[in-house]
Amino acid sequence: MEDRRAVKQASGVSDFSRVLRPIRARPADTVRPTRAEIDLSALRHNFAVLQKKSLSPVWPVIKADAYGHGAKGIARTLERAGAQGFCVALVEEAVELREAGVFASVLVMGGHYDRAYEELLRHSITPVLTSAAQIESLSCAARQHQTAPVAVHLKIDTGMGRLGVVPRDLEDVADAFQRNPQIQLQGLMTHFACADTDPDSVRRQLEVFSAATKTLAARGLNATCRHAANTAALLGAPESHFEMTRPGIGLFGVAPTPGYGEELRPVMRVRTAVVAMRELQVGETVGYGARWTAQRTSQIATIPMGYADGFSRMLSEKGSVLVNGHRCPVAGTVSMDMASIDVTDVPTRIGDEVIVLGSQRGLAGERTITARDIADITSSIPWEVLTSISRRVPRFYREP
Ligand SMILES: *Cc1c(COP(=O)(O)O)cnc(C)c1O
Repeated sequence: MEDRRAVKQASGVSDFSRVLRPIRARPADTVRPTRAEIDLSALRHNFAVLQKKSLSPVWPVIKADAYGHGAKGIARTLERAGAQGFCVALVEEAVELREAGVFASVLVMGGHYDRAYEELLRHSITPVLTSAAQIESLSCAARQHQTAPVAVHLKIDTGMGRLGVVPRDLEDVADAFQRNPQIQLQGLMTHFACADTDPDSVRRQLEVFSAATKTLAARGLNATCRHAANTAALLGAPESHFEMTRPGIGLFGVAPTPGYGEELRPVMRVRTAVVAMRELQVGETVGYGARWTAQRTSQIATIPMGYADGFSRMLSEKGSVLVNGHRCPVAGTVSMDMASIDVTDVPTRIGDEVIVLGSQRGLAGERTITARDIADITSSIPWEVLTSISRRVPRFYREP
C-alpha cells in the first residue's frame, strides 16, 4: 500500500478518487450459492420497449449502481444498444462510468458538487445545477482550468419541493448565466411528484415548467434539451417527453403503475440454495426470539441469505420463497446471514435451488415472486427492493 502511493505520487497521478467502489463479492470469488442473475437480453428488451414508446431519445437512469444491477455492466450493455447518454445521482457514480470506459454523455442529477467541480470538468461530466451560486462556482473552476465552454442542465422545482430553482429565483439564475458566459445552458429539467398516480399533477407541474422555460427564453437563455419524464411519465404522459426521457425502474422490468408497461421483463433474479435441513417436532421453535413454533412435525430448510444481503427482516413470518416450483413461507425471524423456510409440504433436499426474487419452474408449472410482491409485504416499493440487494451478493451477467 505504502509503495503504491509512492509510485502514484511520483507519476503525478492523484491518489484521490471519488469513485464509489462496491467491495462486492465477485462471481469467481463466491463461496455461497446466493447470487443475483442479471438478464442482459431482458434489459435490452426493456430499453427497446421504452425507446419505442418515447417520443425522444431515452437516457437511462442508472443511479444507485443501476438500481442494484451493477452500473458498469448495465451502462456498457445499454451503450452498445444505442443509449446516447446516462443519468446518475452522484458525481462518484458518474466517475465510475467514465473509469469503466463509458463514452456516452453522463448527467449528474443529484445537484451536490461541493469541491468536485474540477472532476466534472476533467471527466466531461454534465452537471445539473440548481442555483446561481453553483453557476459561479463552476465558472470559477472553468476559468482556473481554462476549459472550453461548459454545458450544464438546470433543474426547475415545479412541485417536488425538494431540489431545483423555484420560479421566483429564475431572474437571479439568469443574471448568473449572463455574468458567466462560459457556462452554457444546454438542458432544462424537472421531476414529477406523482407521475404514477395523478395525471392532473403532471399537467400542473408541466405548466410551471413551461412558464420557467419562457422566463429564461425572455432572457436569451434557450435550452435545447428539455426533459422531465421518469418511467411513469414516459408510459403515461407523452406531453412530457420533450427532447429526452429519463426512465429508471422500467429498464429493470418493473411497471411503476400496475397495468402499465406489462410487456417489460424483470432483469434481476435472486437465487440461493438450501444449505441445511431440520426436522422439528411439535412445540420446537426456529430462530431469534423463538417466534415460530412447530404446530406439526415440520421440515425447515436453512438458506444462506439474510437481511444483510437484502432479504428484508420485514419478511419474517410474512414472506415466502420458491422451492421446487412451490411457494414456501419464511419461518420465524430473518437473521443477518440466514433465513429459515417451512418446506414441510414440498419434498426438499440440501442443494435445492431457492428463488427469492424472480421465477422458478417446477412440476406444478412456473411461479414468480416480483419486486412488487416483496414490496407489498414489507410496506416498501419495488425501487427499494431492488436497491437493497447488497454488495455481499455477487451479480452474474447472463446472455441467454
Ligand atoms: C430516479 C429518477 C428518475 C427515474 O425514475 P423511475 O421512476 O425509476 O423511472 C428520473 N428522474 C430523476 C430526477 C430521478 O431521480
